[in-house]
Amino acid sequence: MSENCLFCRIVRGEIPATIVATTDDAIAFRDIDPKAPVHVLVVPREHIRSLNDATDPSLVGRLVALATDVARKEGVAESGYRVVFNTNEHGGQTVHHLHAHLLAGRPLNWPPG
Ligand code: 5GP
Ligand code: ZN
Repeated sequence: MSENCLFCRIVRGEIPATIVATTDDAIAFRDIDPKAPVHVLVVPREHIRSLNDATDPSLVGRLVALATDVARKEGVAESGYRVVFNTNEHGGQTVHHLHAHLLAGRPLNWPPG
């Protein structure tokens, strides 16, 4: 837990978010500034700074599995989606609490900018 971390505060319910799914160790909620028609963030309840600090590969696997469950629930599993972990500065990470982006609902450019 990190006192002032934005996503820890969302996990604790101190900041409102549109939660779409929860598990024992993760929550999924809509991004406040969506970059695609479906843009959901999947975050562990535990404060982990980035993929570099994710020492439990099974937790990372559960985050990906939850992103996939949400893709199915949102009806985009067949049309397709992208799951991205932005990591540190060059990866474009702005919130330093591990999270996966689930992006879908339109053709996504590749490579990303
Ligand atoms: P990053 O840039 O770290 O990979 O992703 C952080 C994401 O968090 C961004 O897509 C941004 O729009 C989203 N975000 C920032 N502040 C909030 C907030 O208060 N609530 C929600 N739901 N998303 C946020
Ligand atoms: Zn945090």
